Amino acid sequence: MTSAPASTFTLHADHALLPSGWARKVRITVAQGRIAAVDAGHAAAHGDIATDVLVPGLPNLHSHAFQRGMAGLTEIGGGQGDSFWSWRELMYRFLATLRPEAMEAIAAQAFMEMLETGSTRVGEFHYLHHDADGAPYVQRAQMCERLAAAAAQTGIGLTLLPVFYAHADFGGAPPNPAQRRLIHDVEGFARLLEGARAALAPLPDAVLGIAPHSLRAVTGQELAALLPLNDGPVHIHIAEQVREVESCVAWSGLRPVQWLYEHVAVDARWCLVHATHIDQAERARMVASGAVAGLCPITEANLGDGLFPMQAFAREGGRFGVGSDSNVLIDAAQELRLLEYGQRLTLRGRNVLAPDATRSSGRFLFEGALNGGAQALGVAAGLQVGASADLLELDAGHPAMLGRQGDALLDSWVFAARNGALRTVWRHGQCWVSEGRHIQRDTITARFAQALHGLLA
Ligand code: ZN
Repeated sequence: MTSAPASTFTLHADHALLPSGWARKVRITVAQGRIAAVDAGHAAAHGDIATDVLVPGLPNLHSHAFQRGMAGLTEIGGGQGDSFWSWRELMYRFLATLRPEAMEAIAAQAFMEMLETGSTRVGEFHYLHHDADGAPYVQRAQMCERLAAAAAQTGIGLTLLPVFYAHADFGGAPPNPAQRRLIHDVEGFARLLEGARAALAPLPDAVLGIAPHSLRAVTGQELAALLPLNDGPVHIHIAEQVREVESCVAWSGLRPVQWLYEHVAVDARWCLVHATHIDQAERARMVASGAVAGLCPITEANLGDGLFPMQAFAREGGRFGVGSDSNVLIDAAQELRLLEYGQRLTLRGRNVLAPDATRSSGRFLFEGALNGGAQALGVAAGLQVGASADLLELDAGHPAMLGRQGDALLDSWVFAARNGALRTVWRHGQCWVSEGRHIQRDTITARFAQALHGLLA
């Protein structure tokens, strides 16, 4: 199923967050899924769709959609060494049996939840490529096709990031059997990309990137061969775990981010996901390169990864965005809230990220994640002519939003609202979420239930 062409219509917002800041009484005309005109200071014309507060949809720059199906299944106490690595064991067991139909059903559920909670585009860091025995599917990019179908059904914007994965550890260690569904050589990966391109063709504004999984899974030689295969975004898991940093140093004498910058020309195409453990010099190189730090506060908290040095990075002008990663909980506002709260708890202060009084914490977090996320996913950001009409309507009558104006609207959404403050979501000019519910929710959830029953019974 693909989205029908959007008609031309005009929204009128009491408050709208434009690239230049907050504006009142704004008419936004949408044509062919894109913003065709933005006019502030006008009364609604006959036929305009009246809205309270319009802000751009947020990009979710890092997701492994299928992991939504195992959310909440790894929270059992008592394991002395319970860590990221024990979580990964369960994840491998889960993916060993996942079929293409289940992949599509789980991804649709995850993408629907993203739309209902404020994310209008997802960066799908997709590594489950092959059949259960590790052989490529006859249609090599079948799993990419399933993700594209889930995006079409839910309406979410898709930046697909097929993952290159070849090794179990630094230095080109052979992969282990649990990784058999992930593995490619460079030539096979190039063919996968061709299939991925074809899978994305029916979507209105999909973007193709590539994702060398991590320095554990890719050698320097492979990395050099991969980069010319595609022009779009490049994402990598980089320094999520202390053990990963120690292993990298033992192997190469360099920390992961340091190794990357020594060996590759990292630029604004790049998104460094979980650059959690970086020193001052690595941080300076990230900022100078214009690469985006891909932060996943809820998952990083869930996995006990540690805290990214966000205040210093932000003060130095570093670019960032947020992602739902393991999808243990999907909610864009909660990602932003936890990003701020992690820093408040460790720095023992309030409003520790917003640089000055011109922007509140909520506005700083929202705009940072909007601009950095859009860069990382290869699209234009914000309510401006030419950008995709990806819009969120916040409900000014929600108890947490009453009487708010300007930045206080975003602060109240991020820090004070529970469900319900987000009322309507337009994605590429179509209304997909109305009164907080995705228009296909019943169908999508029924299919998700069926898939999980098959997987967990
Ligand atoms: Zn990840």
